[in-house]
Amino acid sequence: STLLAAEGLTKSYGSTPALRGADVEVRTGEILAVTGASGSGKSTLLHCLAGIVRPDEGAVTYAGARLDGLGEERLSELRRTDFGVVFQFGQLIPELTALDNVALPLLLAGRPRAAAQSEADAWLERFGVRGQRELRPGEMSGGQTQRVALARALVTEPKVVFADEPTGALDSLATEQVLTSLVHTVRETHTAVVLVTHEAQVAAYADREVSLRDGVVQEISGPFGTPG
Ligand code: ADP
Ligand code: ADP
Repeated sequence: STLLAAEGLTKSYGSTPALRGADVEVRTGEILAVTGASGSGKSTLLHCLAGIVRPDEGAVTYAGARLDGLGEERLSELRRTDFGVVFQFGQLIPELTALDNVALPLLLAGRPRAAAQSEADAWLERFGVRGQRELRPGEMSGGQTQRVALARALVTEPKVVFADEPTGALDSLATEQVLTSLVHTVRETHTAVVLVTHEAQVAAYADREVSLRDGVVQEISGPFGTPG
């Protein structure tokens, strides 16, 4: 079923168009790759879907409610409870250990420290980086850092994770390891993933692929040839 849908999204930065009437649907629990050349509007689409950027025209609907109909406060709450985000460079807090980075969203949600830490530990374990729990981001490899960032994005058990080139800075082997952990985990938790990438190696992990060209959705494909 449809979890998140965008209809007719248009967005320009000054006179530069980024999206020109993009339509896309994200289904519950699916991994959707958003592909396209650099500058085709992938990041802007992701930011609109995640409620970070407001489109000039068009609407994003999440679980039946239009994001532009929610107040700022309700929208931030929704982003905290239902959405998770990961970027190319994990954006972990450099002063905190892997464990504390992953526990933080739970602490902010009011969970007691001991419970937050034991849950964070379990998420590090799922992503194969429990051995790095006491390390700070600067002490880990790129692949380890991104796995910790994914654990942090998933620790609150969001309905959808938005990942913008999460493996963009990694070599091919690390990319495979990170994506394998991600796919394995979200299959268990039934979390939808919107995965922005310009790499075919990454898109191959998705259930469906949406391709952008000059701010318009070009094609929708699935591994079984199912039409959008
Ligand atoms: P992609 O993720 O596919 O590379 P983007 O959504 O980042 O595409 O960018 C789409 C277009 O919008 C590009 O021409 C880009 O230069 C422009 N753009 C994106 N963000 C900004 C911004 N903050 N200010 C000005 N132009 C931007
Ligand atoms: P990955 O494939 O996970 O990115 P690498 O092959 O880059 O891992 O690194 C292998 C090992 O080297 C890692 O286990 C990590 O501990 C260490 N390492 C890599 N990069 C760094 C770094 N920038 N700082 C500290 N240790 C690193």
